[in-house]
Amino acid sequence: MRDVTSFGCCDRDSCDFFTEGRFCEALDKAGVPRHQKWRTLILYMRGLADFSYLTENQKAAVQDLLVSVLRDRDFSDRRFEEVLLRDREILVAPYEQRLRQALSEAGTLVEDFRRLLQQRKGVVKGLEQASVDAVLHGGDPETIVSVLRNTFREVENLLHADASSMNELLSRDFLTGIANRRAFDGHLLQCIDDWNVMRRPLALIMLDIDHFKTFNDVYGHRIGDQALQTVGQALARVATSADDPAGSVFPARYGGEEFAVVLAGAVALRAADVAEDVRASLERNLFSIRDGDGNVLQRDLSITVSGGVAVISPDWAPSTIRDNLVDAADDALYAAKDAGRNRIRVWPLPRG
Ligand code: GH3
Ligand code: MG
Ligand code: MG
Repeated sequence: MRDVTSFGCCDRDSCDFFTEGRFCEALDKAGVPRHQKWRTLILYMRGLADFSYLTENQKAAVQDLLVSVLRDRDFSDRRFEEVLLRDREILVAPYEQRLRQALSEAGTLVEDFRRLLQQRKGVVKGLEQASVDAVLHGGDPETIVSVLRNTFREVENLLHADASSMNELLSRDFLTGIANRRAFDGHLLQCIDDWNVMRRPLALIMLDIDHFKTFNDVYGHRIGDQALQTVGQALARVATSADDPAGSVFPARYGGEEFAVVLAGAVALRAADVAEDVRASLERNLFSIRDGDGNVLQRDLSITVSGGVAVISPDWAPSTIRDNLVDAADDALYAAKDAGRNRIRVWPLPRG
């Protein structure tokens, strides 16, 4: 009798795909041909559920694809190619999006930098001329030295101004105008240092737009970008109104359709209030979509966000605070998604 546990259920001559007997039997029942090609693809898609680097949405999309393959029972070469393409689309979608964003940011930066250099070229030429004039016609040495000193001071001031505007450019998210991930990372580390020294309370809110892929699929990426700007504006507004002398509210685009708010000096209850303000103001904010000629295509649309709030736990080792805080806020965010979206959850989450 054939040994199904060590060699799989398939006959070695007709199928060289060896796996656990039961899985192979299930594939037989589902009508999957005994081609290594199909069986390997199915096993691979099934295995993707174990990879922690994939998001829950990506895992769910791959599983949906797998279910559709088994349901449709179309094992043609054309279908095989379609499945491979869809699988690739699911796996690379987040990276494509990030790459597009990074390229567009790099392009804007280079353009800003070129403009700045162009402006400075003119200014430096003027200063050079002033220095030459001073040396040629400036008269006594004291006057010449004073003109040259002023000229160098002006160059120094310009360099300082350029350094701070470059820093500003590197810290802004180009689409939404609020702080970018780089600025967020720096600010969060600074606040954690403050917490370590002064035990000043620190809270983090993570927000994620609900069903944003569907929104993009229905209205297109350009309108999707406008929705991201709406969230950026809501966060900037809430940050200004929620700012108080005892603390600071620092909103940032964390990446893609995810946003973060660092609240220095805030306890969990207050951070939850701020998060709820943002959520409610976006839910209330109805907007219209117009075509290129300004005609309204769709009215009264709204996007919603889910949010997670966390504060530093005194039990965390100092070197793990940053990661623990982000993970805790993320856990709370996923609990909000699981509970139906368009809501805020606070870490630690109730058991069960
Ligand atoms: P969930 O409610 O579970 O968060 O679902 P979701 O559809 O929002 O999540 P998913 O991770 O499946 O999709 C995120 C989408 O966000 C896909 C991606 O195209 C879109 N996205 C990310 N960055 C941008 C961007 O800069 N512009 C636009 N228009 N869309 C973006
Ligand atoms: Mg997301
Ligand atoms: Mg989302």
